[in-house]
Amino acid sequence: MTFSPCLGWGQEKASLESSQPKGYYLFPIRPGDQNFLSGTMGELRPTHFHAGIDIKTLGVEGLEVYASSNGYLSRIKVSSGGYGNALYILHPNGTTTVYAHLQRFNQAIADYVRKAQYKKESFEIELYPEKDQFFLKKGEKIGYSGNSGSSSGAHLHFEIRDSQQRPINPLKHNFSEIRDNIAPEVRKIAFRTMDKNSRINGQYGRFEFRVIKNGAKYTLPVPVTAYGNIGVEILTHDKLNGAHNRNGVPCIEMSFDGAQVFQQNIDRFKFSETRSILIHTDYQTSREKGQRFVKMYVDSGNELPFYETNQSKGIIKIAKDSTHSVLINLWDMYNNHTQVAFELKGTEPSNTLRLTNYKGTSKISYSLINNNLMVKAPVVSQEVPCVYLYSNRMRYQVDHAYTINQTAVFLWDMDQGLPDSLLYDDKKLTFNYKALIPGATTFNYFGEHLELQIPSKALFDTVFLTSDYKLDSSKHQEQFVICRDIYPIRKNINVTLKPRLKYPDHQRTAVYSLDKRGNAAYSGGRWDGEKVRFKTRYWGTFTLLTDSIMPEIKPLILNSDKLVFRIKDALSGIKKYELEIDGKWVLMKYDYKKNIIRSEKIEPKTPFKGALRLKITDNAGNVKNYSTNL
Ligand SMILES: [Zn+2]
Repeated sequence: MTFSPCLGWGQEKASLESSQPKGYYLFPIRPGDQNFLSGTMGELRPTHFHAGIDIKTLGVEGLEVYASSNGYLSRIKVSSGGYGNALYILHPNGTTTVYAHLQRFNQAIADYVRKAQYKKESFEIELYPEKDQFFLKKGEKIGYSGNSGSSSGAHLHFEIRDSQQRPINPLKHNFSEIRDNIAPEVRKIAFRTMDKNSRINGQYGRFEFRVIKNGAKYTLPVPVTAYGNIGVEILTHDKLNGAHNRNGVPCIEMSFDGAQVFQQNIDRFKFSETRSILIHTDYQTSREKGQRFVKMYVDSGNELPFYETNQSKGIIKIAKDSTHSVLINLWDMYNNHTQVAFELKGTEPSNTLRLTNYKGTSKISYSLINNNLMVKAPVVSQEVPCVYLYSNRMRYQVDHAYTINQTAVFLWDMDQGLPDSLLYDDKKLTFNYKALIPGATTFNYFGEHLELQIPSKALFDTVFLTSDYKLDSSKHQEQFVICRDIYPIRKNINVTLKPRLKYPDHQRTAVYSLDKRGNAAYSGGRWDGEKVRFKTRYWGTFTLLTDSIMPEIKPLILNSDKLVFRIKDALSGIKKYELEIDGKWVLMKYDYKKNIIRSEKIEPKTPFKGALRLKITDNAGNVKNYSTNL
């Protein structure tokens, strides 16, 4: 029997565990009944590891939510996005439980929060009640489940955090409410060549393979040959009983020729580290296809705490003329176990490959994989010509690495210099590389159309900067293409755009990012003379747009008891909403998903009466007013 790292707690964990006897935590919703999860702790989300468990609420809002253990309310947060209505309870053992996306709080907490909101004249609020101001007994009703904040369906998000506010896996407590006898499922394995001399099936690059089930184990349906340093990635998920949701797999281990080379056990992390998920998984595949492949090797720049690897950080080395075995073990929190087993046959690289189904190229094309530029060109004669590559006023002769059918493949190590152009069989190709940005240190770039200021550690690894400028005078629109969204960014970088077009209304003109379909998303920006500065955590295409359209207001319900409006803004988005009656501020709760604001009275029995004034401001500063008499 293979030993699950999910069950083998380290020393620090053991001491925390022993302070939490079995049954310390009550399941916070429908305790005693079978419950179902739509998300697990550590699960891979687009930009973070999921910090808790998502408990299904029978598809409805309004189920009672209970304090999981004795403790006092240490924090209350109300926001239109994020966790929505959230409660934090600090327990005597030093842990905190978190209950998020609540529809509403219990009466006493709701009264306390509403008073604070009226005092601060703000819907969004964060409160830290005094110790023992709200002492809560285990099982006491603290609120009702909902769908508030950036939740996209009714559920309760429940976390257990250690004394340093690091989330730990609630399923460690073996809640009998959750059943899981389904082992993790595996969909694909990917292999990546980690240097210029490595190959997968004779080729350089990253290659995905669907797996098949062979008895109890998964395996590759076709033999794969390899050579050199290879990184292995896996696309996997876990299902729990009674729910179709694809949840995360916390524990993964890989061994190579019988020796463990990689292990992950996502059982705790710091919120400050959670964005490292962008290099825990393959970033480009995640962004382009939404598939999050877990790397079973640890990239430089990855400081997440839950790995154990061999000296080569999980990268396996394939020798020629040998057969290597790879065994991957996966476990969920209920010790259900899955294996993937396959062999990699070591084959020395050949410079001539024949592959059926290989789509050749009729033009010269290039791509960047790791630090190597891969150029593909059609084979034009028996003798394959070399590529002349120009870098920093030097000319380099690059011979082909290999040919596949009628395509020649050339590899250039970018650390040798950024290429300006290349010549192949009298055909010229120019590149657009502007700078090599090191991952760890600060870096400034000054270009014709833009400047970049990159703080230290804002990037995870080296970035080969490209940039482009496109002007469409007929539409009075210019686009700034800043690199490509194939590199993750950890912390905001500062960008200064130097527009060529004139924008008479600076105040209403801001930076917007453009997605592939051309949809604009507000990114903000501050003008400094004719330049505009903004921050971003994504590379991509940006433009400047002027928003001179006022937000829209549509009253839905207006009576002495209730005020409901639909509010919308076309371009820059709603920044502020203020409602007054006879000059007195009224609390309006904002549901951005429904574009609705609804009133909540400070004194439930006092009717709304008097001169009502609603003022909506968008991010560009456009104001829409609505007034009436009640
Ligand atoms: Zn959640």
